[in-house]
Amino acid sequence: MRIFTYRNIPIILHPSFIILAVGFVVVSGILHGPAIAAISGLLGALLFGSVLLHELGHALVAKHYNIDTHSIVLLPIGGMAMISKEPDEPRAEIYIALAGPAVNVVIFLPCAVAAYLGIPLAYELAVLNLAMGIFNLLPAFPMDGGRVLRACLSLKYGRVEATYRSLKVSTVFAWIFIVLGLFWGLIGVTLVGIFLIYMTSQHRQQLDDMTSHNSHRPNRRE
Ligand code: ZN
Repeated sequence: MRIFTYRNIPIILHPSFIILAVGFVVVSGILHGPAIAAISGLLGALLFGSVLLHELGHALVAKHYNIDTHSIVLLPIGGMAMISKEPDEPRAEIYIALAGPAVNVVIFLPCAVAAYLGIPLAYELAVLNLAMGIFNLLPAFPMDGGRVLRACLSLKYGRVEATYRSLKVSTVFAWIFIVLGLFWGLIGVTLVGIFLIYMTSQHRQQLDDMTSHNSHRPNRRE
């Protein structure tokens, strides 16, 4: 569902985001009353705003490198800035990837001060943005940290080999998430690990398809 357009970039809200947000507020209301439901709704809106600004950070820096963004899609697990092409220059990829977490840091700092002054919800917003920034900087594909890792590796190994190597690192992180999630009893952490395994295998498949036509690097398989 398109909610608005910013600088020709359609901002699209995935239906699962709305279902989950409404469900969360309704369940909070039933369990804890209308006041807690209102706070939950407000926190959801602040989370939504933070994810959107994170993605706009990527989109605006991509624009600086003449790369357009087709749309920004907001999902319950985070957002995606659909840029028209992957940057050729490793430096551009690093800056575009870092722009999102940098936005979270920019939001975190005043919120931390506001939280210290006792302003309501500032603490929650500060924690949310700190967590979002750190989580996205983990060196696992397709998160921002994984892209930074790939760009750094591609300076030495070239783009294809760098992508394979960063996908290996992503797989290790995915299994750490799965095991820690099971160990701590946190299903969300395990689900993130499963999501990463899925995304990593998708990327590897794409790369295998691409390189199987490439005589420079035939039949690379993990
Ligand atoms: Zn990001």
